[in-house]
Amino acid sequence: MLVQAAHGLGYKAHVFDPFGDTPGGRIADTETTSPYEDKQAVEAFARNCDVLTYEFENIPLATIKHAAQFTPVFPDGLALKTSHDRLVEKTFLRDKADTPVVDFAPIESMAALSAFVREFGAPAVLKTRRFGYDGKGQVKVMSERDVKAGFARLGGTDLIAESFAPFVREFSIIAARGQDGEIACYPLTENVHKHHRLHTSIAPAGDTQNVEGDAQAITRRILVALDYVGVMGVEFFELAGGKLIVNEIAPRVHNSGHWTMDAGCADQFEQHIRAITGMLLGSTKPKHAVKMTNLIGEEILQADALAKRPNTFVHNYDKHDIKPGRKMGHVNEVLGGA
Ligand code: AMP
Repeated sequence: MLVQAAHGLGYKAHVFDPFGDTPGGRIADTETTSPYEDKQAVEAFARNCDVLTYEFENIPLATIKHAAQFTPVFPDGLALKTSHDRLVEKTFLRDKADTPVVDFAPIESMAALSAFVREFGAPAVLKTRRFGYDGKGQVKVMSERDVKAGFARLGGTDLIAESFAPFVREFSIIAARGQDGEIACYPLTENVHKHHRLHTSIAPAGDTQNVEGDAQAITRRILVALDYVGVMGVEFFELAGGKLIVNEIAPRVHNSGHWTMDAGCADQFEQHIRAITGMLLGSTKPKHAVKMTNLIGEEILQADALAKRPNTFVHNYDKHDIKPGRKMGHVNEVLGGA
């Protein structure tokens, strides 16, 4: 979708991927298939591009740092480094961006997890610090009695414990910051997760007058603190009474921003390309409200039937294999005037 957006703005796209024949690479002008660790390939790729970006944050920092010697990379290494590790990210958000986050601590032993539960109470959420997404690498610790089993399930890698946020709703904000520091936020999106994985997003979210201003102010602080360029997704928990807590940030276009594709404003992919190429940002004001539903695994087989429904737009990612739990596409249902 970033490649399509780049083409729509008159740019050419060169995709780098370790596996090859990827959905992006198939429609790009050029595709390089090479391991991230291949310095020569990364250099040749970077030298061929006026600007680089990424749509997946688990790229080695060394690869991005190497590429950045030859061409600008947006978002830069600081954003990538911060979002690689939940402990680094939460510490940055709390200490450098004045952002409310849950209580958290690094966990190196079962004793440390017991101490965390004693200090901050149960439930707690134990997570791997790296490579966790869609609820992968996380367990809920319901009481001190669960400590042993929880630690046994995830132990052996670097961990973080978080206190459980008793949220009433989950929101996200998709925002962009341009090279000149201009910031544009889309309206709050309400997200519903199933099995820790995003299921539906509705935007603009309803009943947000108490939280929209806060969410935008927090998002702006994060973008400025990181001196960020590009689109970012910021995930929030809303507690009873309207207090917001940031769960995590994603230094890229975000699943909960896919509704923008059929909302009648600049979509998040176009916005990202605009930001990283130094263009002015597009409009973030949707003409229509949209409900986005992910098509997971075999649900993609319903794509044709869904496309027959009125006001319904199906986006198929054209991934090679259908796998259980894999995000294969999404469907946007236009709900009416925003
Ligand atoms: P994550 O992988 O951190 O984005 O978590 C995926 C989902 O798990 C979130 O969207 C929440 O629904 C839930 N979750 C994660 N961390 C917490 C927490 N500290 N408190 C409550 N729910 C959480």
